[in-house]
Amino acid sequence: TRLHVPLPEEVNVSVVVRVRPPLEREKQLGYSKCLSVDSLGHSLTVFQMPPPGISTDIPFKPSSPQPTPRTFTFDYVADESVTQEEMFTAVGKPMAHACLQGYHCCLIAYGQTGAGKTYTMEGPSLHTSFNDLDSIDSGITEKSGLIPRILETIFLILAAEKAQSGVDVEFSVRCSSLQIYNEQVEDLLCPNSTNLTIHEDAKIGMYVEGLQEIEVQTPEATYEVLKRGSLNRHVGATAMNAESSRSHGVFILSVESQRQDLGILNRRVSRFYLVDLAGSERQKQTEAVGLRLRESGSINRSLSALGNVIKALLETTEGKIRHIPYRDSKLTYLLKDALGGNSRCTLIANVSPSIINLEETICTLKFAQRAK
Ligand code: ADP
Ligand code: MG
Repeated sequence: TRLHVPLPEEVNVSVVVRVRPPLEREKQLGYSKCLSVDSLGHSLTVFQMPPPGISTDIPFKPSSPQPTPRTFTFDYVADESVTQEEMFTAVGKPMAHACLQGYHCCLIAYGQTGAGKTYTMEGPSLHTSFNDLDSIDSGITEKSGLIPRILETIFLILAAEKAQSGVDVEFSVRCSSLQIYNEQVEDLLCPNSTNLTIHEDAKIGMYVEGLQEIEVQTPEATYEVLKRGSLNRHVGATAMNAESSRSHGVFILSVESQRQDLGILNRRVSRFYLVDLAGSERQKQTEAVGLRLRESGSINRSLSALGNVIKALLETTEGKIRHIPYRDSKLTYLLKDALGGNSRCTLIANVSPSIINLEETICTLKFAQRAK
């Protein structure tokens, strides 16, 4: 049996690591594995050098002077054998339930480009066949990622609650899709709108002014909206001579319920933020000039702000009163309600198993460790 990520009342933030299987390309490059996951799925050990007995043609420089193996522990570590369905059971399902219980939720995929963020969140090949969007099956398949499964679960539970409660309760689900690129918020469902403003309202919490919201009735229709947004993220970024890996993609689901209790109307909205972050890899100084340099600066600003906010939140839970620096980036300000307060947040750090990505893997694990 697999571990389930604990979401106890007092801890709002969980950190999970997922190791993806080696890719064909990595195998051809003389792939060798640089990490191993313990059998309970709580820790992973990174070998700072190729494990003994494995020869590799890749020039290899240990990033630290002492090449000793390093062990990191997390709430859950999924090795390459963990399926999409198991990821959902461990991570997605408890959050879908929490969202319907009224918690704001935030599920964030972190990691270097190619580490498996989009695969974990959406599933394979959303983009590879994007010229032929209609051909993509919107039903759940073995390879479907967390988002389609979460959508399916949310609509199933809503239908069951509706059937139970009859006419006294009304549900509505709305969704939006945006990206944060160079510290600017852009509506992916309305690609001409750029630099939207994030506001905080005493009643509804954080919102983006002018962001399009689409009311949806089924998981399939919701996923269509997600795909439309992802397509614009890709196309828009290409026009700017960048890849989608350089922007933070945020899909927002708002679940609203209205209930008549003894003649009093109770209205409740919980939001679920699904975040596919920009690649966390550091831009090599020599390669980054002009726009690229600015871009990589803003990517790192949002990512380090995210790490700082999560760290501050965890220290607050431990009893230290701390200022939470939500305002340090657009990303953390937007996610404020779902990171702190009455909320549930899971960060999934995606890593490659291959020694050729060792340095970035260690950076990712350090980030995730700090967020723990
Ligand atoms: P990212 O979004 O972080 O840049 P992707 O999700 O696009 O990375 O993954 C890179 C490649 O690895 C893709 O071809 C994807 O299908 C594959 N991949 C990632 N994670 C897994 C996994 N758990 N199982 C099988 N293939 C995976
Ligand atoms: Mg991706």
